[in-house]
Amino acid sequence: MTETEAREIQAELDPHEDCVEYGNPRRACGGDMNHYRSTLGTPMSRCDVHYADHLETQDRINRDYPDSPMAPSWFDPADAGERWDYDY
Ligand SMILES: [Zn+2]
Repeated sequence: MTETEAREIQAELDPHEDCVEYGNPRRACGGDMNHYRSTLGTPMSRCDVHYADHLETQDRINRDYPDSPMAPSWFDPADAGERWDYDY
């Protein structure tokens, strides 16, 4: 396969288009795609690169707020008049 052919196939069949962070200017997609459900049950797709980032973020949230998606102890709905787990 020539380099041009490889590039054409890449352009036609970029599996990363499904990634929710596809086109992220700070970090390009890479690896295989991962299809999973968020904690809210929403079907999500992320490439290996962004999935790893996502897991890292989840780990950090879980460490800081072990009961996530429950509100942290300082969160008072009466304060802001909104719900912590508000479903957009
Ligand atoms: Zn990605």
